Amino acid sequence: MFDKILIANRGEIALRVIRACREMGIASVAVHSTADSDAMHVRMADESVCIGPPSSTHSYLSVPAIVAACEITGAQAIHPGYGFLSENAAFVQVLEDHGITFIGPSAAHIRIMGDKITAKETAKSLGIPVVPGSEGGVPDVETAKREAAAMGYPVIIKATAGGGGRGMKVAKDEASLESAFRTARAEAKSAFGNDEVYMEKYLQRPRHIEVQVFGDGKGRGVHLGERDCSLQRRHQKVFEEAPGPSITEEERARIGGICAKAIGELGYAGAGTIEFLYEDGEFYFIEMNTRLQVEHPVTEAIFGVDLVRQQIKVAAGEEMEFEQDKLSIRGHAIEVRINAEKLPNFAPCPGKITHFHAPGGLGVRMDSALYDGYSIPPYYDSLIGKLIVHGRDRHEALQRLNRALGELIVDGIDTTVPLFNALLAEPDIQSGDYSIHWLEKWLEKNL
Ligand code: ADP
Repeated sequence: MFDKILIANRGEIALRVIRACREMGIASVAVHSTADSDAMHVRMADESVCIGPPSSTHSYLSVPAIVAACEITGAQAIHPGYGFLSENAAFVQVLEDHGITFIGPSAAHIRIMGDKITAKETAKSLGIPVVPGSEGGVPDVETAKREAAAMGYPVIIKATAGGGGRGMKVAKDEASLESAFRTARAEAKSAFGNDEVYMEKYLQRPRHIEVQVFGDGKGRGVHLGERDCSLQRRHQKVFEEAPGPSITEEERARIGGICAKAIGELGYAGAGTIEFLYEDGEFYFIEMNTRLQVEHPVTEAIFGVDLVRQQIKVAAGEEMEFEQDKLSIRGHAIEVRINAEKLPNFAPCPGKITHFHAPGGLGVRMDSALYDGYSIPPYYDSLIGKLIVHGRDRHEALQRLNRALGELIVDGIDTTVPLFNALLAEPDIQSGDYSIHWLEKWLEKNL
């Protein structure tokens, strides 16, 4: 096992990894920008290294700075968290060349899944059902028109290199296709430096269902059920739950079995998420994320497992402790993403936290890097905390969420907490009857 791990991230996910390290008796190294000198992850780690100025390009995304921090501190492995360098195959390659272990899958697997076209082709070849769409990239408007006519409108144009909901445009008919195509391409170019796009049939009322998978890197793969992340704003998740309210035990076993087998065949190492759109009892693959997800705690809650511990074990060459027939679901879990944002426009709202109090009690987990007097810097994403509740069933989880939100205090800035208070009163949320469009429609009417 490693003696020392460097965490190439910040905020709540850095804390999450430091906590796993400490429980495993592994020393932790935090890295930080000059804007984060007072951040909680720096305070909580055993050691810390400043790796650059506030801009993440020159700090959290700087491969030379991070490799140097490893060499200075003698860290043997790097946990990337999510975002930043977590799905950067070139980074993983550099680490390999320096004899530093990356806690995650191989550079080759990251590369395959990072390009959405090769990801889809790979998924298909492994027996995973995919969304009907173009064969590979769509080079020009003429091809787009031809493919769309064959597929039937509406269609969605997506960036091959996409992520975070950017570079995606829907065209409902031929008249709107050309502008949607050009906008998606321009967005893809500016966000990812790659303007290749592809096209899919736009599903009308699907749910976003993702399967948590885990591989030992030696041919064994398991699944840990699904999460329903359909409540989204601008293709970004805000509320996640597990198990999915609309998924039956038979469906879980079927799609989970397909995913676990695929992960085994790939020889995939560590945690991954296979994302689907789900409509009328059918699953359609959209992408695979080759990292720990923000919403992983809901899976941890219902399975009673520690995904980060298993990631570290597999990266160190030890056996993963998961066996499919010993993995069983207990109860229901919900996570809400608390962002430093001001409603109704969700404008980023950094600033000083005058008072912070985390909720507690049975079945409540708060993953956050906030503390009294902390100033949220304006340079990074606005996620400031995740509130996760676990109950014996969905009803109890909802009641617990309501109770825990009531206990939470974040004074000094605006947050998305009022959104969740309002959502909990909605009959559709109470019954679990929502698609990926539900929240956008609700926001139009209510905010
Ligand atoms: P990203 O990597 O940017 O998150 P995804 O491919 O995972 O992009 O898609 C994000 C979200 O966009 C999905 O959860 C869904 O809400 C919507 N979406 C993507 N593809 C389709 C599609 N074919 N039909 C309808 N909605 C889609």
